[in-house]
Amino acid sequence: EKGKALMLNPHTNKGMAFTLKERQILGLQGLLPPKIETQDIQAMRFQRNLRKMSDPLQKYIYLMGIQERNEKLFYRVLMEDIDALMPIVYTPTVGLACTQYGHIFRRPKGLFISIMDQGHIHSVLDNWPETNVKAVVVTDGERILGLGDLGVYGMGIPVGKLCLYTACAGIRPERCLPVCIDVGTDNETLLRDPFYMGLYQRRDRSQRYDDLIDEFMEAVVDKYGQDTLIQFEDFGNHNAFRFLKKYREKYCTFNDDIQGTAAVALAGLLATRRVVGKPITEHRVLFLGAGEAALGIANLIVMAMMEEGMSQADARKKIWMFDKYGLLEQGRHQSTDSNQEAFVHPSPGEVKSFLDAVNVIKPTAIIGVAGAGRLFTHDVIKAMGCLNERPIIFALSNPTAKAECTAEDAYSLTQGRCLFASGSPFGPVTLEDGSILIPGQGNNAYIFPGVALAVILSGVRHISDTVFLEAAKTLADQLTDEELSQGRLYPPLSKIREVSLQMAVKVVEYLYAKGMAFRYPEPLDKDAYVRSKVWNTNYESFLPEIYDWPGVSHSPL
Ligand code: NAP
Ligand code: MN
Repeated sequence: EKGKALMLNPHTNKGMAFTLKERQILGLQGLLPPKIETQDIQAMRFQRNLRKMSDPLQKYIYLMGIQERNEKLFYRVLMEDIDALMPIVYTPTVGLACTQYGHIFRRPKGLFISIMDQGHIHSVLDNWPETNVKAVVVTDGERILGLGDLGVYGMGIPVGKLCLYTACAGIRPERCLPVCIDVGTDNETLLRDPFYMGLYQRRDRSQRYDDLIDEFMEAVVDKYGQDTLIQFEDFGNHNAFRFLKKYREKYCTFNDDIQGTAAVALAGLLATRRVVGKPITEHRVLFLGAGEAALGIANLIVMAMMEEGMSQADARKKIWMFDKYGLLEQGRHQSTDSNQEAFVHPSPGEVKSFLDAVNVIKPTAIIGVAGAGRLFTHDVIKAMGCLNERPIIFALSNPTAKAECTAEDAYSLTQGRCLFASGSPFGPVTLEDGSILIPGQGNNAYIFPGVALAVILSGVRHISDTVFLEAAKTLADQLTDEELSQGRLYPPLSKIREVSLQMAVKVVEYLYAKGMAFRYPEPLDKDAYVRSKVWNTNYESFLPEIYDWPGVSHSPL
């Protein structure tokens, strides 16, 4: 590629940072202002423009525009200012962007596969310009964050997730493929919206849908190899569990909402041990919500308890769930599904509300993953504060408006005693006595990039749940005592890249030790190996290598 085309390609474009020689050799001279600029100055301009904007959605549009023009610059700025910009490219703003997708649309990102393409997915994949894809994040848009069915507007989610693959774990952007599968939507507003961009039809829930996903999985590994990582994201509950079960032994796949969430929540719980002094086996956990996230977390907690010597049956007894219809207890009218059965217990006494459940079950921790808004009421929080010296309150539903309570409420209603984490970020909270607490963001962004890097680098065939247990432990271990004393249960976001790389190293070590890694020869120094593979944002030179042949005479002897 030369000339204008080089500048239009975000992988190769450096803007005014093309050197004079590059401009001359590549046919760019005159196509750029005369100044040769450093990436530092470019980043500064970009940051300044961002700072001038107050509207998060406007920032999102601006950032996505830079990603389309100059990828290295985009990632440099994202990485430099990850605590400020992650809430833009990821939750909560990405949720807003998804709902507005049809209105803020500039250039398409990612690959769209519709049910009309059935039988032709391979040729659709052939249109994707990159040939060496290592990681796919796929959604069908049915359960976008806690926002429900957004159809193809859900594309923002795989795009945002993969931004974090690169920013947090240094996975090469051209190896990442965001996919949105369109089988229709049941969102009435979108079906009537003239700007909607997907098929105007209700969700296909027939065998055709299953066949389409089967075809997709086969086409991906056929094109990119059996060890291509396929992350399922924001599928509806029923399908999420079905596909995980169906594909987990056959493909290199995981479901982030079930397994990634599980690991991040468990890590938070493990971190509390250093404050509360209780081993995991002594907790009683009450969930609000009994879906993908709740069941994923619950099962991983059970695994962690079993590692500490508890039986599976006893561990399960420590976990309770409360859903739309009330407590999951034996003999209730509303049915429970097979995934929930392990957590349906004999009635503990009369429970009519979540507050009742708290008072009857006396949990040490409540975990909100219902996606239904502020259901940890003041009374619930206060009850937790009465029952526990250090109550654990996780409000994990996204985006911010769906969180079960605010950080402010959790801290102030427990006089700063609670250990709090939320899925979307909340700012620091100042208590009456002037002390400042920094809430942790219990978001799977701490898990999936590091796990993905480890999986890609070690050539794993199938991803076992133990991988997520390992990831949770390494995340909890990385929290320093000082961070813990500030109220955090997770390391600050500003450290997320180092946290993800360390996690990748530990998981790679684990995978080789357990014989689950298939990339040979096994690297001896895993830390050096992982770090050598990490992508960075320095511009590459486009100049041919120019060198002399020392001491060579070109005259006949
Ligand atoms: P899901 O599978 O649809 O589960 C939602 C669960 O909440 C279901 O059991 C549902 O019950 C229950 N529920 C809904 N409304 C309720 C109410 N008013 N009271 C009590 N329970 C209610 O969804 P999910 O994948 O678990 O996700 C749920 C939330 O967690 C979303 O907001 C999502 O953004 C968040 N999440 C956060 C993270 C993170 O990293 N922090 C990761 C993943 C998910 P029914 O089945 O009876 O409707
Ligand atoms: Mn998700």
